[in-house]
Amino acid sequence: MTGTFVGMPAFPTAAREALGNDQLRRNLAHATGTIRAKRAAVVGEVADWEEMRDAGAALKDRVLLDLDEHLVRLEESLTAGGAVVHWARDADEACRIVADVAKAHGVDEVVKVKSMATQEIGLNEALAAEGIAAWETDLAELIVQLGDDLPSHILVPAIHRNRAEIRDIFVREMGSAGRPAPAGLTDDPARLAEAARLHLREKFLRAKVGVSGANFAVADSGTLVVVESEGNGRMCLTLPEVLVSVVGIEKVVPTWADLDVFLQLLPRSSTGERMNPYTSTWSGVTPGDGPQEVHVVLLDAGRTRVLADEVGRQALRCIRCSACLNVCPVYERTGGHAYGSVYPGPIGAILNPLLRGVGHDEQLDSLPYASSLCGACYEVCPVKIDIPSVLVDLRAQVVDAHRGGLPKPEAVAMRGAAWTLTRSGRLRLAERAAGLAGRVLGRRATLPGGRGAVRRLPGPGAAWTGARDLPAPPRESFRAWWRRTGRTEGEQ
Ligand code: SF4
Repeated sequence: MTGTFVGMPAFPTAAREALGNDQLRRNLAHATGTIRAKRAAVVGEVADWEEMRDAGAALKDRVLLDLDEHLVRLEESLTAGGAVVHWARDADEACRIVADVAKAHGVDEVVKVKSMATQEIGLNEALAAEGIAAWETDLAELIVQLGDDLPSHILVPAIHRNRAEIRDIFVREMGSAGRPAPAGLTDDPARLAEAARLHLREKFLRAKVGVSGANFAVADSGTLVVVESEGNGRMCLTLPEVLVSVVGIEKVVPTWADLDVFLQLLPRSSTGERMNPYTSTWSGVTPGDGPQEVHVVLLDAGRTRVLADEVGRQALRCIRCSACLNVCPVYERTGGHAYGSVYPGPIGAILNPLLRGVGHDEQLDSLPYASSLCGACYEVCPVKIDIPSVLVDLRAQVVDAHRGGLPKPEAVAMRGAAWTLTRSGRLRLAERAAGLAGRVLGRRATLPGGRGAVRRLPGPGAAWTGARDLPAPPRESFRAWWRRTGRTEGEQ
């Protein structure tokens, strides 16, 4: 029932289409503005917020240094607690493991806690192919699923929908997925939440298998942690007889003490709350209490590739708070679908190409350019991921991946500039030529203040001047002026 990002166009094409949707832009501006204000207020209450960000970044970096050891420790602790640990190299392996568990219990449906990892691997679609329905139980995910839509935000997947649209989706689609929407449903938020609660309750009580991700995995105790706001997660984690948790390998933290920092950074950065309404933790199986069969799938799916990237590996610090999305001027105008992935916004612009590599997919290669490099994402990131630097590095990787064949005009121009600038005689000749060009071009257009400007170049230069004024070269270079006026060294 949920759409797929497969086959999405490159960012510029998708963004152009999104920019033409006024309703989408209004919904996004309102939603991101509200979350931004909430975040700023609660972050402002913490005197040592910057130190806490430093601590979060340092803790994550320390884990990444010895990731293999922490993962082995985690596996030992989980196994000792009665969980079955699986290792999945890629999305296909992970999906197959979850499907096999569900099939072993003869079920045709599972209930799901909101989980980025399971969305990343396309678990719902893989289970559907096996005849197993995966019901999303987070309110926003439910809206996306019922609307046969795609998520557009990490934290608020239906951020592109307003109340009236959500009401229409519930009225139209709930009946085909289970309990129909109540008669006379309005777009009052309390009524919408009640409709979702009634619809989901029967699924919680019926499901034998639950599927979750995890925000953190504590290696020492073999404890998985899920934070959420609606209580649906706790229902999925406690009511079914069988629980399968798909956990990215970067989610491991060594000890409970390390959680302290992240459980403060995450809610303030994501929902703008001082603490999460629900923090659920579980360590394997407890006889007579909760799921009696627990599986944990430790997922690589490109994470070790990211780890090998010296600049990009900091992306593995990400705690999926979505603060970078809410401050991004590009995201606010295009929305999440334009990024063509479950990870949209600034973190998506780096994480998707890092996880899957560049140079083989036009859509992925376009993402590092989906940014103005304003740096707002870096300023709010609770674990100090320097997203602008990673974007610039990825742009270089994209360019390198496409080297070969006929050089592009930009490459020719750069080589020409290098040839000219390495000899003073060549530079002098170029300056004279530029001065002559300036005399001719300066007559074609004049900026206020008397400076000439070429408004539009022909040929390959048209793309550059189509959106910018290109100042005409000065008629006399600085060095020529220096000589003509007889200045000497040291003179001002
Ligand atoms: S990159 Fe930073 S701000 Fe963005 S989602 Fe990840 S942790 Fe949050």
